[in-house]
Amino acid sequence: MFKPKRVFFELDALDYPSGKQLFDYFSKKDVELLTLKTHNRVTGIPGSTPQEAYLEGKKTLVVGVRKTLNFASCKPSAHYQLPLVTSCMGKCQYCYLNTQLGKKPYIRIYVNIKEILNKTTKLIKERQPEVTVFEGAATSDPIPVEPLTGTLAETIKYFANQSLGRFRFVTKFTDVDSLLNIKHGDHTTIRFSINSAPIIKTFEQGTPRLPARIKAAKKIDEAGYPLGFIIAPVFIYKDWEKDYHDMLKELAKAVNLDPNKPPRFEVISHRYTLRAKSTILDIFPDTKIPMKEEDRQFKYGQFGYGKYVYPNEKRKQIKGFFTKEIPELFPNASIDYII
Ligand code: SF4
Repeated sequence: MFKPKRVFFELDALDYPSGKQLFDYFSKKDVELLTLKTHNRVTGIPGSTPQEAYLEGKKTLVVGVRKTLNFASCKPSAHYQLPLVTSCMGKCQYCYLNTQLGKKPYIRIYVNIKEILNKTTKLIKERQPEVTVFEGAATSDPIPVEPLTGTLAETIKYFANQSLGRFRFVTKFTDVDSLLNIKHGDHTTIRFSINSAPIIKTFEQGTPRLPARIKAAKKIDEAGYPLGFIIAPVFIYKDWEKDYHDMLKELAKAVNLDPNKPPRFEVISHRYTLRAKSTILDIFPDTKIPMKEEDRQFKYGQFGYGKYVYPNEKRKQIKGFFTKEIPELFPNASIDYII
């Protein structure tokens, strides 16, 4: 669970019962409490170097009211982003949010979940009779703040009653207990982002290790949720095949209980943009992430900008490995893609 060093409250957030409750909760904790006129202008987070700014941002919570209820699109995996949380307390060196959230990536939560879900209902109605899918982790990992907000549980219960709405989110965290005994109606898919144990240890600071994530996935599986795994980013290094094999083997021992609800897999090989590389080097100057352009192939992606991916032959190796290993260990699983 996220334990911030400082918490900013947008003044309007205190008019909501959950905002007031959070304020009372943090008043009794050893944290710095501050107020803000608007959550869009957060000043006062210290940090004079990129590293300090990043680390202090990651220790900061902002409690606000989500006023813009225009949900961004979330193609190709879902129709819309569901804005429940922004940012994450983890410090993964290759985090996709590093280039999106500014130099102080504070964590923002919203107290007006009812208004957010009302908007969700409108969007579902607009697309009926089609099913509309909402992604809850497009700009965050929503699990570490769930014990504070209960927002995911409320959202999952909301979607359980939506015949034409589906919810999904992905996490590397393990605070899932409050989600286990609620009605989900098979309408929420929970995906765990996993990697080989050495990769997690080297690059995913501030996140639970592989055994803890597998344990959390087992709980979600036993609670009957549709379950998925994102294996990303996959690296080729000495012993990579053994390490990823061990990871899948441990996972197979824990999940795969219900043959009618097999897990889904998404596999993404490591890739980077020059912008991401420069941000990563600012924050983690000693990073060991392999980012040498001469070892990679430049490839334009579906969103029009280029990335440095592994050369064809290595990507084929990765594809071959997971295409063979996943069905062997999870006979009923489906693989959505391996890229
Ligand atoms: S857990 Fe996910 S969202 Fe959080 S820092 Fe790591 S990659 Fe980013």
